[in-house]
Amino acid sequence: MLDAFFTRLAGTGTVLAHLPGQRGIPYLAPERLQKKRDARVRRIVRYAAATVPYYRQLFRQQGIDPRDIRGADDLDRLPLLEKAWVRADPEHFRSQSRSGRRAIPFETSGSTRSPLTAYHDPMSVAANLAFCEPEKEVVRRFFGRGRPVRQISIYYPGSSVLQIWDVYRRITFVPPPAEHLVLSVTDPLDKVVAALNAFRPDLLIGYGSYLESLFRMAHARQITLHPPKLVMYGADMMTEPGKRLIEEQFGIPVYSRYRAVESFQIGFTCEKGQGFHIRGDLCDMKLVGAQGQRVPAGEPGEIVISNFVNRGTVLLNYRLGDVGVMSGAPCGCGRTLPVLTGLLGRAEDALILADGRIVDPRLVWNVFKDRPEIVRYQLVQHEPARFALKLVTTDREAYDRIGSAVAADLRELLGSVRIDTSFCERLESSASGKFRPVVSHCSAGAPR
Ligand SMILES: [Zn+2]
Repeated sequence: MLDAFFTRLAGTGTVLAHLPGQRGIPYLAPERLQKKRDARVRRIVRYAAATVPYYRQLFRQQGIDPRDIRGADDLDRLPLLEKAWVRADPEHFRSQSRSGRRAIPFETSGSTRSPLTAYHDPMSVAANLAFCEPEKEVVRRFFGRGRPVRQISIYYPGSSVLQIWDVYRRITFVPPPAEHLVLSVTDPLDKVVAALNAFRPDLLIGYGSYLESLFRMAHARQITLHPPKLVMYGADMMTEPGKRLIEEQFGIPVYSRYRAVESFQIGFTCEKGQGFHIRGDLCDMKLVGAQGQRVPAGEPGEIVISNFVNRGTVLLNYRLGDVGVMSGAPCGCGRTLPVLTGLLGRAEDALILADGRIVDPRLVWNVFKDRPEIVRYQLVQHEPARFALKLVTTDREAYDRIGSAVAADLRELLGSVRIDTSFCERLESSASGKFRPVVSHCSAGAPR
């Protein structure tokens, strides 16, 4: 009882200690941000070398002196860390310090392979409440300061966001937001629509794919939906046409946050909407090509991050599995944080066909994008030449009309493969809430 009280006191202290200056972070001069970042790099590298089995072993074997890693650029001296290694042995990457031992497990999406566990030490989760300030500021500016914002969040039961909120409640005295209703993606559409119309939120938050389906369904079936003033998504993707539909047909701006279980704060979009401002003070991001070399701004590359905050599972030079494009130009909003212009998708979801050809998920998406009757789709590769296609369409009649034509278009892309097509009322996301439109169960389908 007393323990719980002191934990909450310590948690609240951590939030307050990190709060000053947070709102100014996005506007720091690049050299000041770099200084902040490099100081955090040195701290986390020393910590990793002293307490994390993987890094202890790595530094010893490769003869690296952790003191020689002076800043983010020096992280290039460490090998790229593969997701599969962390998945196979999470304890190897978990600190043996007191913070590491007390760390809380969070799970990533497990739709394609077994999920990955990342441990977060409680005080870094508490600090996250302060680190959210710059992204909250974008929302506050949108609504005007001081005005209470009515919010509906739609998540998966047990999702990492709900888990984080639960930790906030347990380890801080910071009150949860007032006027906040939480719904589940497993709720039937009628219930979600009724809740939206009764609660009349200003802000609607959820997964990109889910919110896109919701608005597509409302548009196609002409369902009356109380329009929130702002839609915000995270965790997975929203397609460009989906975003345009919400912005143009419903007149609601769409903002986004880039987060992962491996790093709670990666980036956020601003009111200019030109991409994600990357939290370079909390996590380093670089984009690499197929051989692991850095790619220049403007070219697509695989996203590699180093989390400076978490003292549970320590991930440096970690292949996150997303593909993006870094902008070389500053954003018109005045924030100086680097900008990731394109977040193109998950590198993991590429399909490998029997003839060795690699099919990017965006090519699959091309087959669906101009068919407004399709609310959601999922293409599952069971064997190199055997697929299942699940379609959520505006109604059963639409499915009967287009189902076989879609399968024929897909065969044109994938060659002579078997595609079993079925109509679905709904398609569920994985436990972490990420929805994957393209899933491969073939070992050959795993690029690594
Ligand atoms: Zn901006």
